[in-house]
Amino acid sequence: MEGDESFSDKDVPTRRTKPKVVKKKAKLVEAGPTKSAAKSKPDTGKTATPADEPKHLVVETTRAADCAEGELNPRGTEDKEKRKSVTTTSSAREDQTFQPVPWSYISDEEEMEVGEEEMRLRDGRGIIPRDVDLAEEFQIKYVGSSNARLGTTVKGEGVDQIKKTILRLVGLVPDETTPSDLDVFEASPQLVLSQEEQGLTSGQRETLFQEIFRRGGRVDVEDKPGWFLIIHKAPTTGLIHLCLEMAHKSRGASIYVAIRLCTKPKCYQYNQTLSSDVFPKCIQHQPNPIYTVMKVTDYNRRDVLVIFHLKFVSSVASNASNQKKDEETEMQINLICSGQPSWKNYCATEDLKTRPIPRSISRHHFNNESEALRMLSFESTIGMFMKLASGSQPIINLDDVIPLCYGMEGEIDARLKELGMELKIRRHLTLAEKKKVKYPFPGEYVLGRAAAANQQPEKGKTFFYTIMSCDMWYFGWTNTPDFKNRLVLVGGTDGAREYKRITEKRQKDRELEIGGLQQRDRELGRAEELCIYPPPLKAPTMTPYLLANCEDDDKKAMKTKTIEAKMIIAGYVAYLLGFRNPIRPNSDVGYSTNKCVFISLVDSNSWGEICEFVKLFWGFEPMLKKYERN
Ligand SMILES: [Zn+2]
Ligand SMILES: [Zn+2]
Repeated sequence: MEGDESFSDKDVPTRRTKPKVVKKKAKLVEAGPTKSAAKSKPDTGKTATPADEPKHLVVETTRAADCAEGELNPRGTEDKEKRKSVTTTSSAREDQTFQPVPWSYISDEEEMEVGEEEMRLRDGRGIIPRDVDLAEEFQIKYVGSSNARLGTTVKGEGVDQIKKTILRLVGLVPDETTPSDLDVFEASPQLVLSQEEQGLTSGQRETLFQEIFRRGGRVDVEDKPGWFLIIHKAPTTGLIHLCLEMAHKSRGASIYVAIRLCTKPKCYQYNQTLSSDVFPKCIQHQPNPIYTVMKVTDYNRRDVLVIFHLKFVSSVASNASNQKKDEETEMQINLICSGQPSWKNYCATEDLKTRPIPRSISRHHFNNESEALRMLSFESTIGMFMKLASGSQPIINLDDVIPLCYGMEGEIDARLKELGMELKIRRHLTLAEKKKVKYPFPGEYVLGRAAAANQQPEKGKTFFYTIMSCDMWYFGWTNTPDFKNRLVLVGGTDGAREYKRITEKRQKDRELEIGGLQQRDRELGRAEELCIYPPPLKAPTMTPYLLANCEDDDKKAMKTKTIEAKMIIAGYVAYLLGFRNPIRPNSDVGYSTNKCVFISLVDSNSWGEICEFVKLFWGFEPMLKKYERN
């Protein structure tokens, strides 16, 4: 919540009232679990709070009248309209005249030297659209650590602890019972071993709320110092919810915020629950999910184009108009951006004249997550080329890791041309020209050299490799020059392993199919020579090659990861330009099987190095050429 949010996921305190306190009953002290929920002593109000300590939120200590069992709001309470107050953010949202900073490619490349060298057949050729359906192994994927920007949900921090706390308050044993968990209950009057099967019943929810009320409306979350479960009335809507209370930094000061827990049975998540809902649901449990891909910019920044791509899921009525979807999702971008490290870093940039306000440039809504991923990959891959294009207008691209776009070669070509650039082959190098190309990255290039055979693992040394088949390549790095286990299928889901898994399964499936047909024909007594079967599908042979090494003492291996990112982009450019495996003759036109790349590690200075690597590895020099419509 950096700055004034007009629409916030979190309730912030509006009053500075001391929490009301209900004295814990003596009976409870004796009977309650000794080291779990009961350890949260009610705030007696007597201890002085240090000045820098944030004040707790106001909590409810009794239930509103006329609630059904296990509910906190009176019967018949309905969801409220989402809050729409007028703030700088909402004015940015509603500014109909807004135009992003224009951007187009300005080439600083010198004209191609004409006549100096003899033109070769492929010189000047551009991106080749593949007129085939994208095979499963080449599909766009997002692999790696999940994050909300990409719309994948992970278990929120502390969700297990919240669950444990709640189950204990209700008198249930958490699923992942450990011996120490059981000890607590041996001291209790009732040894309840039933687990939560269907989620809490309304009776159990009632018990939970009453237990919290008895403790003054606030209990500690187990093993999460500074986290509390509270029963809280949203200041904006007046709805009462079971909330997680935690300290949140806002403009340098720490304040407590209340975040509603999901009300779906068995769910203890708290991400993106709305204060306007009587029964708030987390992002996974909201009805009618739509997947939105947005290109976001900084509304206040006029000197340079800022772009940031988001994909997120939200809940909008299924028959909502596109305009309604735009409005509803636009209201969320401030919150979503404020949770993104790269946006936060950007906001912390020194000398920013005005506080950044995220504002969408383009919006696309999908009912299907994979279509949204396709759009995200397309837009962010275009953003990657804008970032790499050297000599262009400056751009601030806040994307960190992006899913690379496959199967849309024609669309990529068209969009790059709209932006005034064209990806082309400048030169198909002759053997003599190729010999002069130097490895552009720090470290030693060993592919095809004697040194490749005697590389040893060494502290502070990293290795780059490629894995190739007749129709694909994959680039990566490792701590060892040995590849014995690189393609073992357990434990990894990188593009190379996925390729192996999918193509081997295809081979197996075809073998089974043929086997079944042969069996049938034998049973029918058909003569063998008259039987026709589909051809076997042989999974392509995959070969790893050691490419290079690098001295890298850094624990985070940033130098290594930067080189890897450039190799991956080189492999992607080679795919767009329709190159083949340069080591195996007679290979097909290839695909890159790296699914993602950290573009936060590259900038416009990287393009030259990427081109040098493509020259070295494939023997072609790519270029981004100024494109002019005629
Ligand atoms: Zn915030
Ligand atoms: Zn949920």
